[in-house]
Order: sequence, then structure tokens, then C-alpha cells
Amino acid sequence: MIPFLDLKKINAPYQEAFQEKFQAFLEKGWYVLGDEVRAFEEEFAHYCGVSHCVGVANGLDALRLILEGYKILGKLNEGDEVLVASNTYIATILGIKQAGLIPVLVEADINTYNFNFADLARKVTPLTKVIMPTHLYGRLADMEKVSAFAKTCPELVSGAHKLLVVTDSAQSHGAKDASGKRSGSLGDASGFSFYPTKNLGALGDGGAITTNNPQLAEILRSLRNYGFEKRYVSKYLGINSRLDEVQASLLRLKLKNLDADNEKRRVIARRYLAEIKNPKLTLPQWSDGNDHVFHLFVIRCEERNALEKYLTENGVGTIIHYPIPPHKQEALVAFAQLDFPVTERIHREVISIPLSPVMTMEEVGKVILVLNAF
Ligand SMILES: *Cc1c(COP(=O)(O)O)cnc(C)c1O
Repeated sequence: MIPFLDLKKINAPYQEAFQEKFQAFLEKGWYVLGDEVRAFEEEFAHYCGVSHCVGVANGLDALRLILEGYKILGKLNEGDEVLVASNTYIATILGIKQAGLIPVLVEADINTYNFNFADLARKVTPLTKVIMPTHLYGRLADMEKVSAFAKTCPELVSGAHKLLVVTDSAQSHGAKDASGKRSGSLGDASGFSFYPTKNLGALGDGGAITTNNPQLAEILRSLRNYGFEKRYVSKYLGINSRLDEVQASLLRLKLKNLDADNEKRRVIARRYLAEIKNPKLTLPQWSDGNDHVFHLFVIRCEERNALEKYLTENGVGTIIHYPIPPHKQEALVAFAQLDFPVTERIHREVISIPLSPVMTMEEVGKVILVLNAF
């Protein structure tokens, strides 16, 4: 059986270094928001090419707190609208709702799995204040188009000179645009997750926000810790969303290999794209470059459910990202009447095949053979 993802194998090379870090952690006796978190924040900000990184407990909180922070800065108000892709992961939408804002779903493009820009323009209202692209599956959204749209959006309220651009970077650690700028530096603020399955994964939950805005960063440092200005002095109605020292110290070790790991992902993706030849399967579009970090290798098939069964029977692990679009989720029943034919097709047809930095070339070859025989 080729597992969809072997996390134990991904973390195995770090075992000795983890143990040393853990021993040092036990001896130090400082558990949450300490030197390791500060050092990781500095290193991750530098890696992404921004001036500030704020560690938080998970990716959902990262997205929510960015929006809460802009409310405190007076840039957003309760009830403002956020343009978000209708095929994103549910957490993007939860983050918007938890911050008291309104997610406005935008139809997807069948080739990029990101915004349909014509629909994006149609969804703008005088309440639109934020565009929130998700760099889904590890491929950057077209940020040139997003930034241009944010600046020229016709409905801009007087006083505002552009829409805020907040990116969901939880699947795109390390991805670069054509000019070499990385995910996390391509909007006003970005939210990351370090959930174990992500390209930069911890041994538990973790998240971070990156931004070049020092005021926002300062507010976020307070919001993640009850809104304290200093210990036991509450300035804002914050939450508890702190990154702990163990996770930060492990993330520091793994960050050093992120670029090499992402390159291993691209090597496998290149083989898949060159060697999977089956007219029943649609492969992801990628014009080779450094942009894509292949968090997932997602293919489409009209007979998806049969393909899923076939792959399981033939020893290839798969996962569907994702089986139900947000507007069809019971939790978002208010969106149930919305119509997104492309998004619905994506959710009906996609299936993710194994791709990770620890796959062997034999395994890759077997996946290709099995897919070509479907
Ligand atoms: C993982 C993920 C999140 C949420 O991160 P958590 O750490 O699980 O809260 C948000 N958006 C996307 C696109 C994700 O993949």
C-alpha cells in the first residue's frame, strides 16, 4: 500500500534533533510564547520576505485574527463583506464569520482552482472591503490580478484607496511568484497553518500571520494573548491563541529544509505531469517555474468514485479535497441556495493522489502505472 501521506516518515529524519530540542525545552521550563517562538517568528518572517510574523495556535485563528486586527485599526467594521473562493477549505469561511464579517462566495475557475475573475467583479458591493484568495493546493492565486482588482475596484467607498488583500496561505508555504516573492508577502496580511500535514508541519497545531504592517502586528500580538497590553492589562477583547515553545522549536528545524522539500514535491509533480497519460484524467495545470509547492496533487475524473475505489483496491491511498463545497455544508445552510456549477463540479470530480517529499521514485512509478491502467 502506498499511503496517501506518511507523516511518521516525514518527521523521522528530525528525530534526533527533535529529542535534543525537547530535552533543552524540559530543562528550560518555559512552555508558551518564549524565545523559541520569538526566534521562529523572526526566521519565518525573513523566509517569507516580510517584516513581521506573529505565531498563533492554528491557521483558522490566524485568518480570524487578521480580520479582527483590521477592525481595531478602523479599516473594517462588523458586517463588511469579504470576497472568498467558493471552493476554498471551510476554515477560510469560518475565519471570516468568526470575525463578524460576511463571506461573499466567488465562483471558481476550472483550470486554476482559484477565482473566476468575472464573477469576482460581479460580487462587489459598497460593503466589500477585503479580497481573500486561498493559494489552494499550493498554487498561488494570480496575485497580480488580485492586487490590480483591489486597487481599481469600482465600488471603493470614498476614503478607502483599495480593498484589503488577505491571503489564506495555509497550503502554500514557500511558494514564489514570478518575481521571486513568496507566499506570505503577497498581500496586506497572510495566515498560515502548521497543522502536521502542511508543507511546513508541526507535531500538533500551530499557525502564524505574516505582514509588513507594524501596527497590525502589534495588535495581533496582543489579540492572541487575551488582548493584553502587558500582563493582566486588557486593551482589547482578545482570545487565547498562542504558539507553544515545543512546536516553534521543531518548526525552526523543519523550516531549514522547506525549500528542499518543496523541490522534491516538484520533482514528483513533473513526473506525474509527464507520465500520467489517461484521457479519463485531468491533471493540474502548471507551467514549470517555482510558483507551485504542490501541497496536494489534485486530479479530476468524471468517474471519480469508481477511480477512488479502483485506487484503493490497487494499493494507492487517496483523499478527496474536498467532497462537499462550503455552500452545501449543513453548517452554512444560509448559502444552500447559491449556485456555483464550477465549484460543484470540482467537488464532484477531484481526487488527490500521493505526493510528498518522502515518496520513493518506485512508489511514484507505481502510482503512474496504476493510474494509466484505469
Ligand atoms: C489547513 C487550512 C486552514 C486551517 O488551518 P488549521 O491550522 O487547521 O486551523 C485554513 N485554510 C486552508 C486552505 C487550509 O488548508
